Amino acid sequence: MIKEISKIKKECPVCEIERDLIYGEMNEVLKVRGEDIEVTSRVHYCTEGKHYFYDVEDEEEKFQIAYREYRKHKGFLQPEEIKKIREEEDAELESWDNEISKLKEKIEKIDDDLFSRVE
Ligand SMILES: [Zn+2]
Repeated sequence: MIKEISKIKKECPVCEIERDLIYGEMNEVLKVRGEDIEVTSRVHYCTEGKHYFYDVEDEEEKFQIAYREYRKHKGFLQPEEIKKIREEEDAELESWDNEISKLKEKIEKIDDDLFSRVE
């Protein structure tokens, strides 16, 4: 079930004493908004207490991966894709602003020309 990455000696949060632990990877199915998402999660196995437990960071990462997968399944944009689109939009708006300023300058110049002719 668990694919071993390393063996460590560390306090087991369940047994609350130092134990021989196996740190490894495991395939798991998480439910994200009702959808089953398979993820590979990092997990500890306590060889003496014979139970699994997760680190908070590993747990968090697992859910992030699951949400990424979920978005991929649904065809939703990932956070970095949304950021990229926003940046492109900002750049586009900026170039429009430049065009508008140039037009305003032209119009002002024409106005000035017309006035100088009238006077
Ligand atoms: Zn234990």
